[in-house]
Amino acid sequence: MIEINDLHKSYKMGSNVLHVLKGINFSVKEGELVAIMGSSGSGKSTLLNILGMLDTMDSGSYMLDGVPIKNLNETKAAQYRNKFLGFIFQSFNLINYKTALENVALPLYYQRMPRKERLEKALKYLERVGLKEWAHHHPNELSGGQKQRVAIARAMAAEPKVLLADEPTGALDSKTSYEVMDLIQKINEEGNTILVVTHEPDIAKMCKRIVHLKDGVIEKDEMVNQVMAAEYV
Ligand code: ATP
Ligand code: MG
Repeated sequence: MIEINDLHKSYKMGSNVLHVLKGINFSVKEGELVAIMGSSGSGKSTLLNILGMLDTMDSGSYMLDGVPIKNLNETKAAQYRNKFLGFIFQSFNLINYKTALENVALPLYYQRMPRKERLEKALKYLERVGLKEWAHHHPNELSGGQKQRVAIARAMAAEPKVLLADEPTGALDSKTSYEVMDLIQKINEEGNTILVVTHEPDIAKMCKRIVHLKDGVIEKDEMVNQVMAAEYV
């Protein structure tokens, strides 16, 4: 599903160059649930943003579902992004003046799906995350965990091949974090490929595989005995 080879990325700040990713090699198969771990500043978000085509790489290769992705122009990148990828962020990134339902339906608007169809589909995904009753509420009426579940429904609505989550539990207390991870595990069991960036070992253990980033390279890549979040919920 994902295959990257010798990926490099630097940031230039004045005359200084910060070499963040120094030759990353890894691949992810369909249906995997992978945690990307590493200390703050190790380049986790940089890597996820490149995988998500929100940022470009300096060198290396990236194949996504058999398509070579290399510094595509913005229009092409947006097309692939909409087709292949769904995003979940630490801060939810919901639109406050839209209802939960409208937030979930938004990616479908960009796919030019007719209004009736997209609202029906959005409701189906809100139901999937257990929030059907909250469809007509605005984000400020929802708890953090509910907001993240709306964001997960929104990421799923466009039916992407891969879900990319950057610290999805970073703004939540531990109980709510486990509930969100329980949902992520269930979505993965239904066949979705999911990558979760986290610096919390307890969250990483809920994935099936942990990739450790250190000093710009993958220091360790291990399959783990997955801990089921449901045991904590
Ligand atoms: P955290 O756990 O704190 O979110 P991270 O592992 O996600 O950290 P990144 O956000 O990928 O780390 O950042 C890696 C390094 O690159 C950091 O030193 C950061 O300051 C730097 N960096 C990130 N984005 C930029 C940018 N747009 N311009 C310059 N430097 C950047
Ligand atoms: Mg980060």
